[in-house]
Amino acid sequence: MPLSEILTRIQKAEAEAGRAAGSVKLIAVSKRQPNERVEAVLSEGHRRFGENMVQEAAGKWPDFRARFEGIELHLVGPLQTNKARQAVELFEAIHSVDRPKLAKTLARLAQEMGQCPELFIQVNTGEEPQKAGVLPTEADDFVADCRALDLPVAGLMCIPPVDEEPALHFALLAKIAERNGLSGLSMGMSGDFETAVALGATHVRVGSAIFGEREAR
Ligand SMILES: *Cc1c(COP(=O)(O)O)cnc(C)c1O
Repeated sequence: MPLSEILTRIQKAEAEAGRAAGSVKLIAVSKRQPNERVEAVLSEGHRRFGENMVQEAAGKWPDFRARFEGIELHLVGPLQTNKARQAVELFEAIHSVDRPKLAKTLARLAQEMGQCPELFIQVNTGEEPQKAGVLPTEADDFVADCRALDLPVAGLMCIPPVDEEPALHFALLAKIAERNGLSGLSMGMSGDFETAVALGATHVRVGSAIFGEREAR
């Protein structure tokens, strides 16, 4: 689907929800996409992209950054502590802060490097054992811990279980954010971004709907 069509659908969802035009940011998730497709979207003027692996991002984005100005890169996948330094160097935002050890490492790096990406705390709203994220019941404490470390917490992120109604998870995430005074909500993917916009998403992470199917791992 053309980028312009996704942007139009976001605008329409904003209007229908009575939200200001432009209140939702589109993150074009380019993981495992051929460079030509990413370049096409860059050439259309889009500058906000998402990757889920530090290694892959490090391989492809320095070259794009040299050729296109104003790129904003978001890490939407899990982050190992031993890759945290590289992630701080590469990304403008990290959506997967999900445990105390990672929070402490990021705080130390922020001190040392004098910079820190915008951070989102990932909440495992479906309480799925295989999925990253803090449990909904642990979220308030973890937000407080991150703030105590002076980390720039912008909001919360979730990935709903594949077989459940995403709206329930988006509403839960919005509730947790609100009671913690957080305005950022990273939620909604190709199949459900309009629902996410209706429930308050500030960042939607859309991959295959823009770029088509991904390459196999
Ligand atoms: C891959 C990915 C997306 C994009 O998924 P699509 O269904 O292709 O839109 C969004 N968020 C995260 C965390 C992802 O890993």
